[in-house]
Amino acid sequence: MDYDISIVGGGPAGSTAALLLTKSGFNVSLFEKKSFPREVLCGEFLSFEVTKILKSLNLFDDFLQLQPKPVNNLSLFFNDGKKINTSLNFQAYALKRSVFDKFLLDSAINAGVNVHQPSVVRNIINQSDHYILNTTDELGNVNKISSKYVIAAYGKSGLLDKKLNRSFAGEKTFLNGVKYHIENNFFNDLKQNEIKMFVSKGIYCGINTVNKNETTVCFLENRKKIQGSAKEHLIELFFKKHKLFNPFKDVFRNKIFSQPVYGTGNIFFGKKNIVENGIYMIGDAARVIAPLSGDGIGIAMESAMLISKILLGQRENNLSKEETEKIYLNDWTKMFRSRLQIALIIQNIALNDSAQKIGFIIFSKFPSLSHLLIKRTRNLQSNI
Ligand SMILES: Cc1cc2nc3c(=O)[nH]c(=O)nc-3n(C[C@H](O)[C@H](O)[C@H](O)COP(=O)(O)OP(=O)(O)OC[C@H]3O[C@@H](n4cnc5c(N)ncnc54)[C@H](O)[C@@H]3O)c2cc1C
Repeated sequence: MDYDISIVGGGPAGSTAALLLTKSGFNVSLFEKKSFPREVLCGEFLSFEVTKILKSLNLFDDFLQLQPKPVNNLSLFFNDGKKINTSLNFQAYALKRSVFDKFLLDSAINAGVNVHQPSVVRNIINQSDHYILNTTDELGNVNKISSKYVIAAYGKSGLLDKKLNRSFAGEKTFLNGVKYHIENNFFNDLKQNEIKMFVSKGIYCGINTVNKNETTVCFLENRKKIQGSAKEHLIELFFKKHKLFNPFKDVFRNKIFSQPVYGTGNIFFGKKNIVENGIYMIGDAARVIAPLSGDGIGIAMESAMLISKILLGQRENNLSKEETEKIYLNDWTKMFRSRLQIALIIQNIALNDSAQKIGFIIFSKFPSLSHLLIKRTRNLQSNI
């Protein structure tokens, strides 16, 4: 057998699982198809859970060396020009994913994980007591790797969904995500420590500063509800309704249209199997949380911690594969299901014009409700 455990994907879920399992004495390999640093679609908001896990991994001080921007305030901007401001009630950060993901993967490499990068996993074949992974490296060499267990951390969608016959593969949701980095001096009203969230018909957009020069603009759009270009729609919203950017609208328009864009189409937020053909799914591969919650990275890392603990327990207690799968499914459901469902309900409200208006009235009358909802989408207890 080449490895005890093979992990597909080197995002926050895969790197965290690889690091923990290697520290527990497993012989772990990780396959990542892209060279790092690489960009990825994300609002680049790192919630409370992320810092909690970094502390538990003794990585928090090194993380602070990357100079993430502290965030503890949320401003919500509505389509009719109204605005709500609220504190987050927890300390969050903003940092470019290219920097954060490289930091986590480097930490896994330093811990002794066998990282194959760039290396694409093209198929995973179940041989009942082990798996064969078919991989291709950057020179086009095809390899067959044997592994006792496989953890899939390949993100929200990918070629493996089809290979593994996952029920949602190829589904058209019309929900598309887009991210840009824009220089800070393009904004009139950038407050440090704040994430701005714009909601309008069929679109919502998060804006936060990620370092001393750059700000992330990231939005999710429902193509069925938006007519014309989502970018034009956002420009109108920013300029006309909230006067957020510098007065030279055309300069800004040229800027936003000429930026490199990181995007994904047809994002599926529905239920997925948590264990697929004996393969443990973690992070977005298990289920995608609505991005409005800003908690996807936290859940990715928490699910990595969960599977690592369970596989360690399996080795110590000599549990069968069936027993282990059952424990993972139960614990995953207990930890994440209601957080995912609440985030999805909030997203549906945000993307719907009339529900949004009612939402604004309720939130402005009962501001503590926004704290409650934020709390219900995350794990704010002190222990992971
Ligand atoms: C519009 C939008 C905005 C978001 N904003 C935020 C936010 O502000 N804060 C937040 O916490 N979350 C946010 N999220 C969610 C967050 O980005 C994800 O939840 C998080 O990236 C999941 O981590 P992961 O490790 O599961 O997957 P990923 O980060 O997607 O990593 C998967 C990795 O697997 C690799 N890979 C894929 N297929 C293969 C293969 N076949 N072989 C080898 N490697 C492979 C990929 O290259 C990638 O590096 C947002 C999501 C969207 C859609």
